[in-house]
Amino acid sequence: MARPYASSGDCGRGQGGARWAMGFTSYMDIALDEARAAAARGEVPVGAVLVSPSGEVIARDGNRTRALSDPTGHAEILVLRAACAAAGSERLPDHDLWVTLEPCAMCAAAIAAARIRRVYYAAADPKSGGVAHGAKVFSHPQSHHAPEIYDGISAREAEALLKTFFATRRA
Ligand SMILES: [Zn+2]
Repeated sequence: MARPYASSGDCGRGQGGARWAMGFTSYMDIALDEARAAAARGEVPVGAVLVSPSGEVIARDGNRTRALSDPTGHAEILVLRAACAAAGSERLPDHDLWVTLEPCAMCAAAIAAARIRRVYYAAADPKSGGVAHGAKVFSHPQSHHAPEIYDGISAREAEALLKTFFATRRA
């Protein structure tokens, strides 16, 4: 767990005016890298990135339910925990979350509790999703906060990762 969450130079910081390069695809590319790393660990390939109001990547991780023996070890929960710990706050207003798969109901509830501003996700998850499917957490009046949702970004890549992972596991 001594993983450095601080940005390591791959997020475009300090490159003088290179912020434009950190558009849509790039944050999702980092999330996809984390998803690939998760698959390599034998975890379901889902990756997430937490971005500060100034556009800095403050946490990035992939699923670690097996490694941590923790059913709550989803990528979104891990980056929320890391970012909240770094910020010394249980809320992250004006922060954005990028994730390669539609968040489940548990993660959606945590995202609402943390007051995340925007959620960008790649693949839809009709089976376990809790945003556009199933519990549709943010659409309930009991949800304390509803982030703006942007879906479908790099969806095909994220779906391919998941498909390959589960096909390999079945084989
Ligand atoms: Zn989840």
